[in-house]
Amino acid sequence: MVMSGLSHWQTHTCIRFAPVNNTEYPHLQFRRLSGCRSGVGIEGSSGQNISIGDNCHKLGIVVHEIGHALGFYHEIRRPDRDDHVIINEENILRNELFNFYKLNWLDVSIKYDLSSVMHYHSLLEYPRVKK
Ligand SMILES: [Zn+2]
Repeated sequence: MVMSGLSHWQTHTCIRFAPVNNTEYPHLQFRRLSGCRSGVGIEGSSGQNISIGDNCHKLGIVVHEIGHALGFYHEIRRPDRDDHVIINEENILRNELFNFYKLNWLDVSIKYDLSSVMHYHSLLEYPRVKK
């Protein structure tokens, strides 16, 4: 599933991934840790963990977590998101609310993308990917 996620990015963007032998430089490390998560952008000077834990083995989730590692935030954190979606905070677990905080400094020059793999969906527990 990790290889499929990397392949998805390579198919739909100009980004290319390559295996590394020298782990002293920034690189991605896919691990079965707790949950499905990744930091946004480079974390530190060595490897960045992308957790593909239990129940995370879905293409949409892997592509989404790779997107975070590449520097993408959730689409719903854009400052203009209220023009496109309604967030019902009462339906969000308190410890997950941070995923919905707007980042006023995010670039909004690109059209808001409701179908982005970086967008949460109201009825799905994992992101969808376009084939
Ligand atoms: Zn995410």
